[in-house]
Amino acid sequence: MQLDQKGAQTRPTFPVSYAMAIDGRWVEEPADGVIRRDDPATGAPVAVYPAGTAEAIDAAVRAARRAFDAGDWAWLEGEARAAVLMRVADGIDARRDEMAFVESHETGKPLRQARAEIEAGAGMWRYAAGVLRALHGETFNTLGDSLLGLVLKEPIGVVAVITPWNFPFFVGAERFPFILAAGCTVVAKPSEFTSGTTLMLAEICGQAGVPPGVFNVVTGTGPMAGQALIDHPRVDMIAFTGSTATGRIVMRAAAGTVKKLSLELGGKNPVLVFADADLDAAVEGVAFGMLNNAGQACVAGSRLLVERPVAEGVCTALARYVEAIRVGDPRDPATAIGPLINQAQFDKVSGHIRRALDDGLTLLAGGQPPAAEGQGFYVAPTILRAEGMDHPICREEVFGPVLTVTPFDTLDEAAALANDTDYGLAATIWSRDLDTAVRAMRRIRAGRVWINTTMTGGPEMPIGPFKQSGLGRETGLYGLDLYAETKAVHIRLGREDARLPVGS
Ligand code: NDP
Repeated sequence: MQLDQKGAQTRPTFPVSYAMAIDGRWVEEPADGVIRRDDPATGAPVAVYPAGTAEAIDAAVRAARRAFDAGDWAWLEGEARAAVLMRVADGIDARRDEMAFVESHETGKPLRQARAEIEAGAGMWRYAAGVLRALHGETFNTLGDSLLGLVLKEPIGVVAVITPWNFPFFVGAERFPFILAAGCTVVAKPSEFTSGTTLMLAEICGQAGVPPGVFNVVTGTGPMAGQALIDHPRVDMIAFTGSTATGRIVMRAAAGTVKKLSLELGGKNPVLVFADADLDAAVEGVAFGMLNNAGQACVAGSRLLVERPVAEGVCTALARYVEAIRVGDPRDPATAIGPLINQAQFDKVSGHIRRALDDGLTLLAGGQPPAAEGQGFYVAPTILRAEGMDHPICREEVFGPVLTVTPFDTLDEAAALANDTDYGLAATIWSRDLDTAVRAMRRIRAGRVWINTTMTGGPEMPIGPFKQSGLGRETGLYGLDLYAETKAVHIRLGREDARLPVGS
């Protein structure tokens, strides 16, 4: 591993050769060769990871199991555990620029955005350190004179965490510190395209005093390392973030040994703009929700529903706004959107746009390669007008800078269109009228709703899905509780009368 052992803020020389973090050691085996990651903006190689095998997963799970069962982490006093998590946060801060540099080169996201995500990730670790000692059970003094009830919270055990490529560090930061705060141990399998910052985190964890075996990272492909991890009988829980299709595979695998599950899957998130909204703010917000991370976000606002009297004006302003957005080199501070993650994603997004145009949807912006196109996987912000929600581009997660626009006449119709989806991750509402905004919010079936803003929040707020977008709530106190088991304890005071009849 060529990471900077001293924690100085340096920029690595690409490509970086990484090893896996198993049981407090860096290991390159067992692996079935290596995976090379190329910068999606330039095609230049940036990373080489071991393609970890089922044996690597087994070694990591055994280490996590041993560390959990030994209790060195789970039974550590809360104060000491919190101190370790705070040191991890400090370690992340100390290497923020280096991590952002790696993240930007592996994902193609603008460097400025990557830096903000690393910084926000450190905030998650601090929050989890703070709330760790708030995890508590209950007592019941209502069971009569001679029975006392205690409800204990205990760590769930070994947690397998599978993370995607769109927010490689931040999605981990929404989970790892909460899992460790609850006293669990971790085996992480980051996406094969973006494993660098998770491995850097493993190094920071070791330096901060996380004991060997508590935080393990195995690199490799989904079908090999990922599948071995979700199938492993000694894993107690799986926290998975990714596509709904792979989420279904995870659910089936979990059935084998009845593992607990947390799933954050796809989204097809509606954005409602009512005629009374501050339309300038709404246009900027809609553009941000559609384009942040080049639209590769599970909570991206990808379906604009706009009240008919203002629909034309909003569409014109929005088209003008997104056409002025700079698409290009992620390291240029003026860039708002970088390339998509890889060829497969580029083909998927381009295919959706092509099909929509072939099927006669009206193009309002984009649709062509952007002016800044180089050899990277660039897609221009694209807006299409759609009547109703039937076309696949309105139903499937496109995961690119693509928005459909559909006018509505009433709040009832807007809510029905918003809910006409299998997904239920997030929604955004723009209205200056309190009644309208609150009524719409209550009608929409989604785990996160933003009113007159979008894609914002803090570690206190729970995140998670309705419907086929998944299961469970991460972050906030919910995120801590997610990784805790609940044990009901009954304590008898004094000698109990025999409860079975004795004799004839
Ligand atoms: P996946 O759902 O396949 O990938 C997410 C994670 O799951 C990655 O770490 C992947 O590993 C892993 N994985 C893949 N197959 C398995 C398996 N059989 N067992 C265990 N883990 C597995 O997403 P894709 O990368 O294929 O992206 C396809 C689409 O998924 C995107 O176009 C987008 O629509 C959606 N997506 C949604 C995300 C979200 O946050 N909602 C995030 C990412 C994708 P590896 O990358 O190494 O294959």
